[in-house]
Amino acid sequence: MRVGLTGGIGSGKSTVSTMLARKGAGIVDADEIARRIVEPGSPVLARLAEEFGEDIVLADGSLNRQLLADRAFADERSTRHLNEITHPAIREIAEAEISAAEAAYPIAVYEMPLLVETGQVSLVDIVVVVDAPEEVQVQRAVDRGLNEADVRRRMEQQASRADRSSAADHMIDNGTTLESTQAQVDALWSEWTS
Ligand code: ATP
Repeated sequence: MRVGLTGGIGSGKSTVSTMLARKGAGIVDADEIARRIVEPGSPVLARLAEEFGEDIVLADGSLNRQLLADRAFADERSTRHLNEITHPAIREIAEAEISAAEAAYPIAVYEMPLLVETGQVSLVDIVVVVDAPEEVQVQRAVDRGLNEADVRRRMEQQASRADRSSAADHMIDNGTTLESTQAQVDALWSEWTS
């Protein structure tokens, strides 16, 4: 079975995916794939440099992530261009890795922040949305060292809680304690594996 795990910034996706991994799920992490496709010398990095300026590539060939983020998240059009360059590459690798995880583990979990926004729900059988009130999301992201204005801007560009919940087969409420979240994960795992 293939489970898509999504949620807004700071909602608790990584927290839930760690809990699922401890249960025995195989995790495919879209953020990790996104970092891999922009390694020095990669075709995606070359395409990004064409679009956002050669100076986003540092002297050692690596990506200047902050500079790319500043330019790519400056307005909706730039963000769309970033996504058009990166999302097909992420999707292709994710498809292969989900298949491999499905063969090796009882359940494959695809952790993807923009699962709903990018139409990648078709890659999975079940969609699980991790949910927390917006102010809790912002507080947690800021506590982790992110800039509050950046967090709010990202949230505006992500699906609304309502859109995400309408795509969900299961919601995990991560608005309170980790114990409560763990209990919900335990219940889901039992349901899936029984
Ligand atoms: P991002 O979109 O930024 O990658 P995420 O959705 O993966 O975030 P996490 O990294 O799991 O979210 O959680 C964000 C922060 O909130 C982390 O520092 C995490 O330890 C903390 N956190 C998550 N869930 C809870 C909870 N129920 N109670 C307290 N802190 C929590």
